[in-house]
Amino acid sequence: MLREAGSAVSDKHWADEVAEVVAATGRPPVVSTGISPSGDIHVGNLREVVTGDAIYRALGDRGIPAKFNFVCDNFDPLRRVYPFLDPAVYGPLVGRPLSEIPCPCGEHRSYGEHFLAPFLDSLRILRIEVEVVRADELYKSGAMTECIIAALENRDAVAGILEELTGKNVGPEWSPFNPRCPECGRVTGTRVRGFSSSDRTVEYSCACGALGRVPMAGGGKLVWRIDWPARWKALGVTVEPFGKDHATRGGSYDTGARIAREVFGIEPPVPVGYEWIGLRGMGDMSSSKGNVLSIAAALEIAPPEVLRYMILKERPQRKLTFDPGLQLLQLVDQVDDASAQGRDERALQLSTAGGFRPVGVPFKHLVVVAQAARFDVPEVMRILERTGYAGVDPGAAADRLRFARRWIETFAPESLRFEVLDELPGVARDLNAAQRRFLAALADRLAPGMTGDEVHRLIYEVASNLSAEARPAELFEAIYIAILGRSQGPRAGWFLAFLGSEFTKRRLGEAARG
Ligand SMILES: [Zn+2]
Ligand SMILES: [Zn+2]
Repeated sequence: MLREAGSAVSDKHWADEVAEVVAATGRPPVVSTGISPSGDIHVGNLREVVTGDAIYRALGDRGIPAKFNFVCDNFDPLRRVYPFLDPAVYGPLVGRPLSEIPCPCGEHRSYGEHFLAPFLDSLRILRIEVEVVRADELYKSGAMTECIIAALENRDAVAGILEELTGKNVGPEWSPFNPRCPECGRVTGTRVRGFSSSDRTVEYSCACGALGRVPMAGGGKLVWRIDWPARWKALGVTVEPFGKDHATRGGSYDTGARIAREVFGIEPPVPVGYEWIGLRGMGDMSSSKGNVLSIAAALEIAPPEVLRYMILKERPQRKLTFDPGLQLLQLVDQVDDASAQGRDERALQLSTAGGFRPVGVPFKHLVVVAQAARFDVPEVMRILERTGYAGVDPGAAADRLRFARRWIETFAPESLRFEVLDELPGVARDLNAAQRRFLAALADRLAPGMTGDEVHRLIYEVASNLSAEARPAELFEAIYIAILGRSQGPRAGWFLAFLGSEFTKRRLGEAARG
């Protein structure tokens, strides 16, 4: 059961409910989000920042100035050699902070930056303007030192809170702070032997055999359950979305809230726990399972507003399944078309800040038209006009066509994918006598300017005249075989109307003659 700020039964958008709760605390709003850059940051991770951005915008819409930050957890250690890493290079680096080890491609200043950089590019495309805070810089700047001192001085109280809420014994050697060994670079093999609050140093020993003293500022990091509330204090965080793994009873939000109040003397932020985003047919997205869709790949098939809308139209506590196939068509249409069923206007408003140009053509229609026109923009515009979509903005249409093309190439179901062949396909030789008579009669009666409905009626009429010789399905197949070289395709009447009578008469005639 995830926490909800605000009531579950309300007409208000959830981001507005959260903004009201945050405003009611009377504290200057600071929305915080964060991700560990240990691997590709994927569509599943988008919920964190998009949720934070919606709350930030909802506060702004109320005239409440807020801050919005994204903490990159690059001071976390490399936990293990992930499948995408070279074991010879990264094996010895396990346990060192992501900010202090080399990047896999050699072009970024650290491992952490390698995975952060493409994510920041995606945020620009998604129009999410967020202050990026790197955890290593936060520690090195000394901003966390006050909390490091408080946690070390109150070690027993902190340990007591963890034991009480998690039911786990932390052990006598446990410390809230992990020094980073200057000899081997690891934060995972060290023990605290003592500390000086006045000198702001920590004495350590390391599994590698080293012993010594490190500064609190940058010389190590707080363990996660203490790091999080310390960050709330250092950044003044008043509201934070986080994944459901942190939201469980006795989870890191629960322990963080107690530590915040009892050790750091602050109120914890308003919690907004969110569910995962799954990928249809593949389960919850997770880098370690390898079933992820990169944000860059998602932004190739869907406009940024559509991805934002997908996330914002559901309450954070509801699980989302991203279906890049047919569901994407519906989402694009809800964003694009004011009359679309199920459209959430407020979610849309929070998704389409700046520069969004609706096309006003159902995406499914555009996908068929685009293929019929072989992606030629002027031809697409002509077909759109013939099919009842006059006055479409050509720039917006061209933009949407780029998404349509990539979607067709990657995720479109087979039934929506086709290619109008340049010449009569070889398989047309196998058409039977009834099919040929059908195509000949159809070619004869098709006339310029017929609408999809008119062609549809004509097809049925001609087919029923031949009902003694062949089943209608067999006859319709002949149309697709003549044009696409396969037995299925888009709705026939509509499709032939798109293609125009000149081409259709010629092609069906050729197929009829064999
Ligand atoms: Zn790199
Ligand atoms: Zn060491």
